[in-house]
Amino acid sequence: MGKEVFGNCKLCGEYKKLTFEHVPPEKAFNSSAVKKFTGDEVMKIMAGTDDRMPWDINGLSGKIQQRGSGDYYLCEECNNNTGSWYMTEYVRFTHTMGQVLSNAMTNHPLSTQCSISLNDFYPLRVLKGIMTMFCDINHGCMGDNNLKEFLLNKEATAFDKDKYSLYLYLSKGPMWRIQGISALGSIYGGFICLSEISTLPIGLILTIDNKTAKMPGLCINDFANFKYDEKANAEFVGLPILEVNSQMPADFRNKDEIIKCINENKLAMESLQNKEEDIE
Ligand SMILES: [Zn+2]
Repeated sequence: MGKEVFGNCKLCGEYKKLTFEHVPPEKAFNSSAVKKFTGDEVMKIMAGTDDRMPWDINGLSGKIQQRGSGDYYLCEECNNNTGSWYMTEYVRFTHTMGQVLSNAMTNHPLSTQCSISLNDFYPLRVLKGIMTMFCDINHGCMGDNNLKEFLLNKEATAFDKDKYSLYLYLSKGPMWRIQGISALGSIYGGFICLSEISTLPIGLILTIDNKTAKMPGLCINDFANFKYDEKANAEFVGLPILEVNSQMPADFRNKDEIIKCINENKLAMESLQNKEEDIE
């Protein structure tokens, strides 16, 4: 028998018995054991707080989730509804993208982007599946009742494109990064609130109240231009293929770049210390 968990459903908000939900869906390559780290451990993994490199998880205890990454986010009804309305299509989308990534890596292992055309998919369902996952990990619909309505009614199409921007990229890992809303400094121009779900093969970034940031990835807000039962063909031109070596949001530096940056910081700190000693 699994344990019984009660709480407020992250989607409808009602206090109910909650069901275990995989994020990303189990069939979207999330069925094997994963190790999850606590906030403190994530801080340790980040460069500079420890002598370890940001991809080095040796010695960190973490928590093993045997059946894939997930948590008790939704009540049974919301879990079943979003599962059949949106997630089935999201899983199909993920498998197609997995094939695209695998082909790209086989034929051009060093390529940093690819272009594909996708036929006969349901854009609105994919977008709603993605937004459901962002609501899960951000403790509900981020206080946004319009977003809640948008997800609870499968036919609804009123996605707030002024508030949200959703970006898609292909991730070749090796790390996963599933992070709730955090604030990012200046590397993409100004202060950005974002949340990220980066697993293999798909990476997703959600920015909030920011229309100017140039995030890596293709903006897929236009998936909301379709009706629930409307299929589309789409061209994805210049879809980035990115690697994830740290837990810092939207950080896609390769290992060499990270090492170089850490060494430069060390040198800068040393020269600062030397200057202070000179003054004394
Ligand atoms: Zn619910």
